[in-house]
Amino acid sequence: MTETARCALQVENIHKRFGSQEVLKGISVTAHKGDVISIIGSSGSGKSTFLRCINFLELPDQGRVVVAGEEIALKTGRGGKMVPVSWRQIERVRTGLGMVFQSFNLWAHLTVLENVIEAPVHVMGIKRADAIEKAKALLHKVGLYDKRDAYPAFLSGGQQQRAAIARALCVEPAVMLFDEPTSALDPELVGEVLKVIRDLAEEGRTMLLVTHEMRFARDVSSHVMFLHQGRVEEEGPPSQVFGNPTSLRCREFTAGLA
Ligand code: ADP
Ligand code: MG
Repeated sequence: MTETARCALQVENIHKRFGSQEVLKGISVTAHKGDVISIIGSSGSGKSTFLRCINFLELPDQGRVVVAGEEIALKTGRGGKMVPVSWRQIERVRTGLGMVFQSFNLWAHLTVLENVIEAPVHVMGIKRADAIEKAKALLHKVGLYDKRDAYPAFLSGGQQQRAAIARALCVEPAVMLFDEPTSALDPELVGEVLKVIRDLAEEGRTMLLVTHEMRFARDVSSHVMFLHQGRVEEEGPPSQVFGNPTSLRCREFTAGLA
């Protein structure tokens, strides 16, 4: 396979500023197919902003994003900032990025099944019957087939997050982006969501995972990035980042956690 074909996601030199605060100071990541890349770091280090810049929920000030070989086209806008050439392209490229948020973000007025088929039918134009078939298989996979006709309010947090994962998978994304998928859950519900993510990792799905679950990150990741104040302070295989980091800050952050 060529390098381009192996590359699911390439992100280069992302910068992002909110007012006078530079939140991301040049962050890059390359995910090859099957890579599980965990992003760790203390609150406020820029983890969520980085994920949000990758799918353009935030507009990076600078940088390059290539999803499954397609580069997001940017031009210089007012004030010298980069702006997308076409939001339609971003919408299309986003279907290659399955995003799972801390707070689930399911549509409250739609059933679980309707949530899962929403993007395939309305954004990708897949036939409803085909989308339903696929959604049912995914709901089986995350253990929610029996809840397919329930509304989110009647589900536990763990069930809602598993539904959100099925929804993200239904567009067959090149890369899954998880932003602290278990942080909003009661402790007894964390395990069922981590199990689903672990299964996806074992299937060879490509993922970027922001998490505070250090043991989990150590176990499933092929690569770990430790962010500190908008920079990658340490990165490498989990054995290095958790076992023998060069950065003192990283050592302190991971001490006793894994
Ligand atoms: P993390 O996910 O690592 O906790 P975030 O990416 O959420 O960090 O935030 C990084 C920094 O950027 C924080 O100081 C936060 O307050 C700031 N920030 C995030 N989003 C915004 C925003 N929309 N407007 C202004 N500041 C923001
Ligand atoms: Mg965050």
